[in-house]
Amino acid sequence: MDGTQILTLGLGLEAPWVLKDQHLDTSVSPHRLDLYVEAERGSLYPCPECSEACPAHDFAAKTWRHLNFFQHHCYLHARVPRTKCPEHGVKCIEVPWARPGSDFTLLFEQVAMSLVKEMPVLAVSRQLEISDKRLWRIVHHYVGRLLGELDLSSVTTVGVNETASRRGQRYVTVFLDMHRKQEPVIFAVPGHGENAIEAFSAFLTAHGGDSDNVVEVVCDMSQAFLSGVAEHLPKAEITVDWFHILQAFTKRLDEVRKKKRREQGHPKSLRWALLKPMGKALATLERHADAVVKRWISGLTNARLEGMNGLFQAARSRARGYRNEANFIAMIYLIGSPIGRLFDQVKST
Ligand SMILES: [Zn+2]
Repeated sequence: MDGTQILTLGLGLEAPWVLKDQHLDTSVSPHRLDLYVEAERGSLYPCPECSEACPAHDFAAKTWRHLNFFQHHCYLHARVPRTKCPEHGVKCIEVPWARPGSDFTLLFEQVAMSLVKEMPVLAVSRQLEISDKRLWRIVHHYVGRLLGELDLSSVTTVGVNETASRRGQRYVTVFLDMHRKQEPVIFAVPGHGENAIEAFSAFLTAHGGDSDNVVEVVCDMSQAFLSGVAEHLPKAEITVDWFHILQAFTKRLDEVRKKKRREQGHPKSLRWALLKPMGKALATLERHADAVVKRWISGLTNARLEGMNGLFQAARSRARGYRNEANFIAMIYLIGSPIGRLFDQVKST
């Protein structure tokens, strides 16, 4: 087997595509290997619309970044034909080694995605020597595509949790399937309150689910969530988790801590401040006592919701330096939703 055959095998090239030429340039750093792929003369190509074998109309030169060949950057070059179908006219064909519109080969993208699942995006971008912006574009493509395949037809019980995307920045609301033991995240959206619930309801419908099948929603005691559920998940009973009760008291305690910093040396006012926020938290709790009690009989544990803080932290650190909420959300999906597993299945086929 000579070098060309080895490279052809490594690229997974099949007829009509053959490796015509290769060139290793050692005058640049890092060294680069350029591979030139061509289709045999007179080949017919399937029309992208109807698969009818058609002659080439013309060719366009394209280049894709491929996996490094040892430490050398590797680029694949090909003249990609446009077919001329009697019925559909002139169309750009898809090449077997890359998806339409991408400057990377599928193999490169698969390796990038496998790494992104395991380590921070910035670290992956350094290792692969591509900008994090381009890496995020790959991540968004695959997350979006796999989300499209998410089947939510069996969702009946939903947990809702919100988190700040960055310190003092906008909120991201995350929805969990409370019956899923692993990777429970099924939806994440910027914003919170009623709009988030409305967006979830639409997403559910678009993925084979039905808002009317949702019988229980576990969420915190904010009015925005409560009215959102009443409006968009009309058959659901709301239950409030201990997790959220603790959250409410923690929030009030934070207010006291802030006040304490402002009013050093006034123990009396601090005592009053402590009593006042706790009174507020208790009043909230009392207002939603029914929902809290329901939680005792609903039979679901709160482990899923508690696990979310760890997930958010992991997503934040993986997406460190992320430029927007969309990146944070893509990472939440990749780590916390079933699409991480879908991705492994895609790879193994
Ligand atoms: Zn056609």
